[in-house]
This record gives sequence, structure tokens and C-alpha cells, in this order.
Amino acid sequence: MQTKGMLIVISGPSGVGKGTLCNLLLKRKKNIILSVSTTTRLPRDGEINGKNYFFVSKKDFESMIKENQFLEWAKVYNNYYGTPREFVNKNLEKGKDVLLEIDIQGAKQVKHNCPQAIFIFIMPPSIAELETRIKKRGTETQTSLEVRMGNTVNELKAAYMYDYIVINDDIERAVTELCSIISAEKCRTSRNKDTIEDIIKKGVY
Ligand code: 5GP
Repeated sequence: MQTKGMLIVISGPSGVGKGTLCNLLLKRKKNIILSVSTTTRLPRDGEINGKNYFFVSKKDFESMIKENQFLEWAKVYNNYYGTPREFVNKNLEKGKDVLLEIDIQGAKQVKHNCPQAIFIFIMPPSIAELETRIKKRGTETQTSLEVRMGNTVNELKAAYMYDYIVINDDIERAVTELCSIISAEKCRTSRNKDTIEDIIKKGVY
């Protein structure tokens, strides 16, 4: 029997639609729970503390780093973001699959500490389409848009360190692919050694 949950890491450039895809994934796969990150970024309109992020001050975040409270943390566009270690471990132990929607720096740390995690990178159909989506979202100033776009090529090259890529050109197809990846990973021999042993142990009687 698979006793421990899987850790699923999803990254991708800003504006690629990770949030929407993750929400659809959570609706379809009931065993997955989203890890709510802690950040020093200010809440955007409509964001709720404890649901989208835990919003904290820089001072509090730095204390939490010292107390080793994060499974990984990174500074992204001048703000800190981190994954609460205790929440993740507790849920994995319970057999829940835990989803982390984190940046590339964070994914590297997770890969180092939890190599058995599944790493999925969401790609835009093109860089031009990505820019259009970010502009439509309307959350960036011209300067911050330029900073984010300037970073895009490097961000896309990071796809090579992930196990899978999913191109978000069609949301329905993309979420189906995410579900398929997760279903296939559940069937991996290395994740099912106990099941194999259980069946063998029961013998022929
Ligand atoms: P946003 O400010 O647009 O919500 O997020 C900016 C970036 O931070 C996104 O790429 C998002 O995936 C990443 N991010 C969100 N939470 C975490 C986290 O806990 N750790 C890391 N490393 N990155 C995060």
C-alpha cells in the first residue's frame, strides 16, 4: 500500500496560468492539497490571507527562515516566498499529495532535498502570448512588466530541469495532461514497493 503522499512541484513563468491550472487540478484530483505559501508581497485585490498566501512582514519572514520553518524559500521580484515545512510533511505523512506552486529557485531546493518529488513546468504557447496574458491581467506597471518579460527566456530554459512540461495553450487539454502525469506517477514501481510485497506475501491461498 502507498502510505505516503506525493510531492508535486509546479512552476512556470509569471502569467502562464499556473494558478488557474492548479485550481482545476485540485478540483479533479481530490487527494491533492495545495500548500499555501508565506510571502512578504502585499496582497493583490481579492487575495485572502491564509487562502492565497500567508502575508507576513519581512522581519517575521526572516525569523521564520532562522527557525527553519521553510521547506524551501526564495526571493522573487524583491519579495520573499516560502513553503511551510510542517504543513507539507504532516500531509505527506497522512498520505495526501501536496502541490507546491513555486518558482524555479524553490524547485531547485526541493529537488535537492526531496528528489522523489514530481516536477512539472508549465510553458506558454509563445513568449508573445505570455506578454498578452500578463497585460490583460493588469497587475504590472510598465517597468515591472519589462522586468518580468526580460526574465522570461531564462525562466523558460529552466524547463530542462523538470520531469515534465505542459503547454498551456488550451486549458482543458493542459489540465487533463496534468491529471495523466499524476496518475502515471502514482503507478510508478518505485512508489508501490509495499503494494507489490503485500500481494506477494498473501501467496496463492
Ligand atoms: P506571485 O507574486 O505572482 O503570486 O508569485 C510570484 C512567483 O513566486 C511565482 O512564480 C510563484 O510560483 C512563486 N512562488 C509562490 N509561492 C512560492 C513559494 O512558497 N516558494 C517559492 N520559491 N516561490 C513561490
